[in-house]
Amino acid sequence: MKATGSPNLVVIGQGAAGLSAALAAAEAAKRAALPLAVTLLEKASEGEAGGNTRWTPAYMRMAAPDRVEPSFVHDMLEATRGQGDETYFARLAADAPATVQWIASHGVAFHQPTYYLAKGPPRIQPVGGGESIHRELTRAAGAAGVALRYSCAAKNLVNDGGRISGVRLIGGEVVPADAVVLASGGFQGNRDMMREHFGPGGESVPLLAPRAKFNTGDGIAMALDNGADRSGEWNGMHIEPVDPRSRNQAPVVLVYPYGIVVDQSGHRFFDEGRGLVHETWETFSRRIHFETPGREAYAILDSRLLKIADWQRATRSEVPPYQADTLDALAKLVGVDPQNLAATVAAYNAACTGDPQKFDATQCDGLAASQTLQPPKSNWARAIVEPPFLAWPLIGAIAYTFGGLATDDRARVLRQGRPIPGLYAAGEITGHFYGTAPNAVSVLRAFVFGRRAGLDTVEFLRARQG
Ligand SMILES: Cc1cc2nc3c(=O)[nH]c(=O)nc-3n(C[C@H](O)[C@H](O)[C@H](O)COP(=O)(O)OP(=O)(O)OC[C@H]3O[C@@H](n4cnc5c(N)ncnc54)[C@H](O)[C@@H]3O)c2cc1C
Repeated sequence: MKATGSPNLVVIGQGAAGLSAALAAAEAAKRAALPLAVTLLEKASEGEAGGNTRWTPAYMRMAAPDRVEPSFVHDMLEATRGQGDETYFARLAADAPATVQWIASHGVAFHQPTYYLAKGPPRIQPVGGGESIHRELTRAAGAAGVALRYSCAAKNLVNDGGRISGVRLIGGEVVPADAVVLASGGFQGNRDMMREHFGPGGESVPLLAPRAKFNTGDGIAMALDNGADRSGEWNGMHIEPVDPRSRNQAPVVLVYPYGIVVDQSGHRFFDEGRGLVHETWETFSRRIHFETPGREAYAILDSRLLKIADWQRATRSEVPPYQADTLDALAKLVGVDPQNLAATVAAYNAACTGDPQKFDATQCDGLAASQTLQPPKSNWARAIVEPPFLAWPLIGAIAYTFGGLATDDRARVLRQGRPIPGLYAAGEITGHFYGTAPNAVSVLRAFVFGRRAGLDTVEFLRARQG
């Protein structure tokens, strides 16, 4: 039977994924002369909307705006420890250049930034970060006729004879829908879910972006209620070390590989130099939050840090480190056991037997401490000897969760491995990440699969209209 009237598309969430879906759908419908009504529902008020997307610097793992690295898919499978869906990541790689070009066509410029201190996979970045993309895509969506409704929290999907027919809001109103794109982020803002999946302490992991408090797993629950398959690692999260004293946006402190990190008792507890920061920050930050007394640790360095070119790029905290001329005074300033800190630094310094000339902050330099040191220090092992001594307090703060919905390479939500007609999902709400977050991919995939969902919904609705 042919449907009558204009079809309705409802998109849930005004972050990277939701905005891309709504705008791409409105544009594609116009091209196809399909009289589509697109509504974007956002739980937060206009001022607070935008989730993680408005807070992110939005580094994207691309060699240049028009290409990804040839090793992209391989790297994704490696990051996900072989559990990632190759088809999904191949689509991400294939669609990334066109998606970036599409974003740029809406008034966002891209450049190639220098990323902290150490080299790593190449990345591009929108000038002005996620905030500028959010602003420009919101403007474009409004101009394309998307109805933006703020302070409207979606609660569940409404079905009619097994077919999606609407979205019920928290207040009870049902917004008609022939297709739905779920883009409401992860569950980092849901204390109960955090505790359920991460165990005791999960409920108190601080948020890296305050606006992520609205990301309470609502869309995940809506789809699971409809039998959707799960994907991703449910006790996986992307978490970074930040300075708890700072008021800056996501004040990461990434100088720790160049010194040591101790807990309040003055003991080291991990290999600070195991790899580049983006290879160690998740395990390190989890250790701080879940296993360290007081959920706080301290990066201890000496004044040679200040001689590293552009060392300031390795921290986004505006608060200077604690500083003292002796380790004893430094320990007392930060509240670390002075005797233990002295013993820890002495043991560390004694193990720093390599040639300090080899020290190179920009890459794993192979300057390892001698094997007697426990835990080991695999790179950047240079003695802490030159006053003034420096300390940054560190806590772990979550960016996003990994567990979510199973989707295919067209962003369709799967149920027992097959697409649920008319139901799409993109961004953090989808799973696909295991082990460790592939660096600089989360925002890219939100845009790529958000846009893909928008394009595919139009195909779906056209086909349904006959
Ligand atoms: C500080 C920081 C730095 C980051 N840096 C990078 C980076 O450089 N590169 C990278 O790739 N990734 C980065 N990330 C991660 C990346 O920003 C996010 O994963 C991505 O922006 C997620 O987009 P999204 O659209 O899925 O979710 P979000 O942007 O979080 O949007 C979700 C939206 O859904 C809304 N919502 C929630 N529930 C409902 C509901 N029931 N009804 C209606 N609306 C709802 C929320 O209010 C929100 O507006 C960073 C994250 C943070 C916090």
